[in-house]
Amino acid sequence: MSYDKNNIFAKILRDEIPCKRIYENEYILSFYDINPQKKVHALVITKGEYIDLDDFSSRASEKEISELIKGISFVAKKLGISLNDNGKGYRSLVNIGEHGGQEVPHLHFHLFGGEKVGKMVS
Ligand code: AMP
Repeated sequence: MSYDKNNIFAKILRDEIPCKRIYENEYILSFYDINPQKKVHALVITKGEYIDLDDFSSRASEKEISELIKGISFVAKKLGISLNDNGKGYRSLVNIGEHGGQEVPHLHFHLFGGEKVGKMVS
């Protein structure tokens, strides 16, 4: 499977459609999910064109990998949900492929918080 340059997050990265931006740097963009599942529901996406986590871990540079992980924690702090910033914690998850429930074929981490997130898998 090759990367689909017309997926919705690719369009957000090209500023072709708007998003509620939380944070951005050279490696990642974070914005609010359009259909929030919890009080706080943010997404962190890579600037690089990666379909999913497996694609990312096989092709991304060490720098891209570390910046994504650091970026997730940074965004959680910015949202006030990080334990490192007196928040009460959050859940980060990534869906991969059909069985994982991935809808948008551009790597993204979900951040859920602002309230108890509940059971891990339903
Ligand atoms: P996933 O099922 O892991 O691929 O999640 C895709 C997520 O993207 C869903 O939670 C959608 O609500 C969210 N989403 C889809 N389109 C947009 C958009 N234009 N802006 C923000 N979030 C979006």
